[in-house]
Formats: sequence, structure tokens, C-alpha cells
Amino acid sequence: MALLISLKSIRKTFTSGEVPVHALKDVSLDIEEGDFVAIIGQSGSGKSTLMTILGCLDRPTSGQYLLDGEDVSDFSPDELAERRRRMFGFVFQSYNLVPTASAEENVEIPAIYAGMPAEERRDRAEALLERLGLGDRLDHLPNQLSGGQQQRVSIARALMNGGQIILADEPTGALDSKSGRDVLATLRQMHAEGHTIIIITHAPELAESADRVIEIRDGQIVADRRLRPLPKARQTTPQALAPAQASAAVAADVLEAMRMSMRALRANLFRTVLTLLGIVIGVASVVAMLAIGNGAQQSVLSRIAAMGSDLLIVRPNMANFRGGEGGSIVSLIPSDADAILELPNVAFAVPEMSSTMTVRAGNRDTQTTVNGTVPQFPAAKSWEVGTGTFLSAADMTSYAPVAVIGQTVADTLFPEGEQALGQYILIKNIPFQVIGIMARKGATAGGQDQDDAVLVPLSTGNLRLFGARNVRSITVQVQDDSAINVTQDQIQALLDARHKRQDTQITNMAAIRETFTETSNVLKIFLGSIAAISLIVGGIGVMNIMLVSVTERTREIGIRMATGARARDILTQFIVEALVVSALGGVIGIALGLSIGGVAQALGVPVSFAPGPVVLAFGSAFLTGLVFGYLPARNASRLQPAVALSST
Ligand code: ADP
Ligand code: MG
Repeated sequence: MALLISLKSIRKTFTSGEVPVHALKDVSLDIEEGDFVAIIGQSGSGKSTLMTILGCLDRPTSGQYLLDGEDVSDFSPDELAERRRRMFGFVFQSYNLVPTASAEENVEIPAIYAGMPAEERRDRAEALLERLGLGDRLDHLPNQLSGGQQQRVSIARALMNGGQIILADEPTGALDSKSGRDVLATLRQMHAEGHTIIIITHAPELAESADRVIEIRDGQIVADRRLRPLPKARQTTPQALAPAQASAAVAADVLEAMRMSMRALRANLFRTVLTLLGIVIGVASVVAMLAIGNGAQQSVLSRIAAMGSDLLIVRPNMANFRGGEGGSIVSLIPSDADAILELPNVAFAVPEMSSTMTVRAGNRDTQTTVNGTVPQFPAAKSWEVGTGTFLSAADMTSYAPVAVIGQTVADTLFPEGEQALGQYILIKNIPFQVIGIMARKGATAGGQDQDDAVLVPLSTGNLRLFGARNVRSITVQVQDDSAINVTQDQIQALLDARHKRQDTQITNMAAIRETFTETSNVLKIFLGSIAAISLIVGGIGVMNIMLVSVTERTREIGIRMATGARARDILTQFIVEALVVSALGGVIGIALGLSIGGVAQALGVPVSFAPGPVVLAFGSAFLTGLVFGYLPARNASRLQPAVALSST
């Protein structure tokens, strides 16, 4: 029969410790197809090392290894993975099943890396387990099976991709004698069906069932006996998986990796939840903070816009009044407004006098702000009359005792739909006829009710209500926004000249709006940074958990590599795992963030949801998974199969 394996002067030296260990010294060995070889030797003699080299799990330090005619001694890791996948099936003393996968899923693993379609894979795994007497144990986890059963699962796994060569390292070492005999009988059965079997043992009596016994001592072959002749060629020799089929779909697809990672994440549910938490908090804070930040900014901006950005508000400068003069501020007088109106670029100048007074109607009264002003008031304040009319120029010149009232005052003095228009209200016992009711304006940002006001002609108020000629403010609207700063300076100069001192100050709404926008943008960046920091913290959590996971699952990685996974497959699996965690955290975080925003909105906080922050947060979470998952995944993929397998 054909020569399947040929070792020539193979040496393996381990240099990891302080002194180099020569595990194999000049081993030369030929094994033919269909043989049943036992390699025996004492513990530490080099048997397992020989097996890792035979099984392409490791490369020799020197020497030549011809596998089916090809020199694999200096094959790349991927090429070695391909040979393992196609030609070998491994059976280990400690079974080496993936603890989180069921019996059937364990048997399927080699076929995943060989790219076999899922259904075919399942059918074949079921058939193999049935043949090995485990048809009723398909869904059991390894720890729900006895040692003998686990070893039979691992034999089924070895046969999954064909198992042309079955390498068994102390397959009965951990079993009681009956289970051991069963396993041995199964291996003999495989041999009868044409598989090439190489079994490693330190028990001489086990070796007697082999056709050929090779004894190894101190890394060298010391005896090579043939007990039975090599079987004749059979019709149905098991073949290695066709290379074409294997390479057609070698990549374990992402869906498969996702399925595996879901299982791994479920197996460590509590830890997964804790990891998720970091990402969830990060994403939720991005979404909620930006929604609330945006909402606050928009609400303030719209209030500023409602006030008009082309306004200048002139007020007495409080800082210039010495204490003691108290409330009677006399720096601004009504004629200042007329003077300002003469300046270029001034559309109108609306003076206001105001004082808190008791207003009565019938037997009801209310404390409210009485405001003396001019007909341009609604335009200057962007506040329209709801019903009736506003104060007219004629009212001004005739000192008419008329009033326009705010909604709150109307509701208080004329409740339950009582007609207010045309009625008289008493201010300081002077009757004023209600000629209009202002539209509802709402509260200021400071919570002050703007509808709690009564408006009377400035002339009438000045003469009959306020006594002193004090003007609280003059609201100036400019014609050309772009020249607002020049106009501001001109007004200041004019008033300083009129008053012979600087006792007024001017607020520029355009400047306020600008300042506010800048400030709130800074605030948003600040909020965003906090959120970003929490995402990074979440990412470090992912990395931490992935590093732990890789360390914990080193042996699983070894098993996957032994069954043919390439470094790339392992990399994919662990990155997908990190991405699954972060994407899941992202989705939950978005839901949580939106809910927090919703609750805030329900509580009256202005909130503005936009797709931008949601996409940003999810994208960042995903990226976090990718970035922080990469390092652990790369560590996993760089493990040597032989080293990973021997980890405890
Ligand atoms: P056996 O399987 O026959 O018990 P091994 O092949 O496991 O023996 O080991 C042979 C020798 O090589 C032993 O001395 C062992 O300590 C050493 N050895 C095996 N693997 C390593 C390794 N990864 N690093 C260092 N020394 C090793
Ligand atoms: Mg060993």
C-alpha cells in the first residue's frame, strides 16, 4: 500500500525553558496507508511531541516530513491547518470537547471549517453519533456524558471530515477498563474500514491490539515490531476530503461565528451582562445627553428668536445708582425714545414703564404688572393681540384710559368665559376699559408668567399711574440687522450726551443669541465627551472580558485549530464575539437612551431626538467592539495549536 507518512531525521527542541529540551532526537519513520500503529514509551519520552508533529499541529525543529508525498516541514500555518482539516482526526486522552457545545455541535466543528453546508453537516454528525451508539445523546453537553461517551463523541468528531488518519493520544488513559476496551474496539472497527490509525500509549498491553508497535525512549525510536501483516488494499478506503471542496468554502462564515459567539456569551451570562452594561451606559448616555442637550438649545434659541434678534434693549444702568435712591430710577425718560427714533437704521423705539399694582374688576382683584407702552409694542415683542385691538396712536395722544390685558389676568378677573372686552378694570381706582386681550405667550425661560400683565398707553400711565417719569426699558428695532452694532454705539452716544453721564446700558439680542449658541455648543461637546469617555470605558470592559475569555478558552481554541480552523477563523470568531456584545449593548443602550429622553420629555424637559446621535452612538459602540476586540482576538489567533491544546 501507499506510503502515507515519512519522517526523516526529525528533531524537536523546546527552548522555552532555561535549558533547551530535546523532545525528539533524529526520528525517522515510515507509515503506510491502512496501518494500525501503536507508539509506546514512558511518560516524557516524546510520544505526544511526535504526535503533534505527525498531526501537523506543530513543525519540527529540523528534518523532513513527507505527508502523502508532500514536504510539509516548512508549510505555513494555514497550509498545515488545511492538512489537519482534510486528513486528520484527533482523539485525546482528555477528550477535548468544547464544553459549551452539545455532542452534536462538537462533532460538527471540523465540518464548519471545511465549509460543509449546515444541513449536510447536521445529518452527518447525527449519523456518526448514532453509529457510535450515542443517537439519544445528541443534545447533551459534554459534562452530561460519561467519560466513555465523551471519548466516543470525540471519535465521531475525528471521523467528521473523513478522518483518513486518526491520531489518538492515550485515548483510554482516563477511562475505566470497560470503557477503554469499548473505545479500543471502536478504533479497531475504524481500522477495519480502512482508516489509518496511530495510537499513542504508555500501556504495553494496549499496544498488543495494534498491527505494528514502535517504541520510543528519550526522543528516539528504540524498537519497531510488526505484529500482524499490513491489510490488503480495500475497495472502500476512506479518502481525505477533496481539496477542491475544502478550499471552496474554507472560511467559517460569519453567521456560524455569530452562532458560536452567542453560545459562548450565553454560557457566561452574568459576565456578558456586566460587559454589556458598560456599552449600554455609554450608548444610552450619548443618546440621552445629546437629545436633552439639543432640546435645551433649541428651546432657548427659539425663545431668543421669538424675542427677535434685531432688537436692542436700553435699560437704566443699575450699577450707576447709589444705594438709597431705590426703586425710582429716573435716568430713562419717554422722550429718550423719541430721540432714538430720529437715529438712522431705527425702525421703532418702544418705551415701557411698569409697576406692580392691584387690578380690580367687580369683586375680583389680582396683583399684576402694569405696563405703560406704545402702539409698536406687539411688533417689538413679537406678541400679538388675541382678541380686540391694541393701543392706538390716538389712545396715546388723548391719554385714553384703555387697557389690553394678558391671558392670565383675563382668566383671573373674568373666569368661566365671562366677556372681558368692553368691561372696565380699576387700576389705582381709575377705571380703564379693556379693548383687547393679548394672545397667550407662556412663561419665560426663568419661569415667569408673561401673560400676567396689563398694558396701558404710556402717556396715560405716565400721567395717572406711575407718578415718576421712569422708563423701565426702551426696545429698539433696527432696520438692517447687519448694522446693529453701529446703531447700538450711536444710541449709547446719544443717551450719554442727553443724560450727561453714562447711566444706561444696551442689550444686543443678536450678540446674546450668538453667545448662547457658542456656549451651548461648547456644552454639547462637553456632554458628548462625557458620553465618549463612558463608551471608551465600556470598550475597555469588552477588551478585558475578551482577554479573559481567550485565556479561559485557550484549549477550545486549540481544539478548533486541531480540527482545521485557520488563524483567520479564530480571529473572525473572537472579533464577531466582541461585535455581538457591543452591537447588543448598542441596541439596548439606544433603547434605554431613548426611554430616558422620553421620560425627561414627559417630565417637561425639552428634548429633541435626532437620528444623528443614535447612529453615532451605535457606530461608536460597534467601532469600540472592533477596536477593543481586535487585540484579544489577535492574541487568540496567534496561539500555536500544540501549545493551546496542552493548556489546562
Ligand atoms: P510524552 O507524551 O511521551 O509523555 P511529551 O512528548 O509530552 O512526552 O514530552 C517530551 C519531553 O518534551 C518532556 O521532557 C517534556 O517535558 C518536553 N516538552 C513537551 N512539550 C514541551 C513544551 N511545549 N515546552 C517545553 N518542553 C516540552
Ligand atoms: Mg503525552
